[in-house]
Amino acid sequence: MKQHRINELLRHIENDCRLTKGYTGRSVFKTNVMEAIARVPREEFVPDHLKALSYQNSPLPIGEGQTISQPFIVALMTDLLCPDKSDTMLEVGAGSGYQAAVLSQLVKKLYTVEIVPSLAQNAALLLNRLGYDNVVVKQGDGSLGWPEHAPYDGIIVTAAATEIPEALKLQLKPGGRMVIPVGYPGKTQNLMLIEKDHAGNFTSRNILPVAFVPFVTDSVQARAA
Ligand code: SAH
Repeated sequence: MKQHRINELLRHIENDCRLTKGYTGRSVFKTNVMEAIARVPREEFVPDHLKALSYQNSPLPIGEGQTISQPFIVALMTDLLCPDKSDTMLEVGAGSGYQAAVLSQLVKKLYTVEIVPSLAQNAALLLNRLGYDNVVVKQGDGSLGWPEHAPYDGIIVTAAATEIPEALKLQLKPGGRMVIPVGYPGKTQNLMLIEKDHAGNFTSRNILPVAFVPFVTDSVQARAA
């Protein structure tokens, strides 16, 4: 039964991938990305009352006004990062921990920062319980990155920023890739792929119009509290 729902989800992701080829330039995602999606029990990452919807290809609320990303977007962002088993990567916006669970299977080490304390704590406990032991979660403002473990082969930002944080550009390894939604909250944002070449120069490409929850900073949080 569950296997059937996972297979259905994979078909939906493949279909969305074909439909967006004109934007993304890819008609299929890499096999290792699809396999990683297939292995993650998404029901563990969604609240109890939404478990029946776990394998729908849609974002879902996870509390604190935040969402677990749509599986197609998780697959796309993971694919764009070109993860390698020797890589160390950084995620900004752990949320439920779902994206981290998917990506962690394809890299050596994943550091992830989440600004909302309860989400950071839950994600850390859950990833640990499920055995994703190459992921480290910390609570904090991810716009500052996580300098202690830099530079990173890849950086994935799962909340929309109005501009690319300088700290993240600095913490990207030459030859590395960053995937980040850029734009204003409440509007369509652009999912961007940023590449840093070996001389330290950046190139960027718009990949797909997307809608992410906004990037927040500690000062915004303080005002909201
Ligand atoms: N990757 C998550 C998606 C979470 S939505 C998942 O798979 O479930 C984006 C997350 O980014 C939210 O949890 C939000 O609290 C967090 N976030 C927003 N601004 C942030 C910041 N400045 N630093 C770290 N996390 C941030």
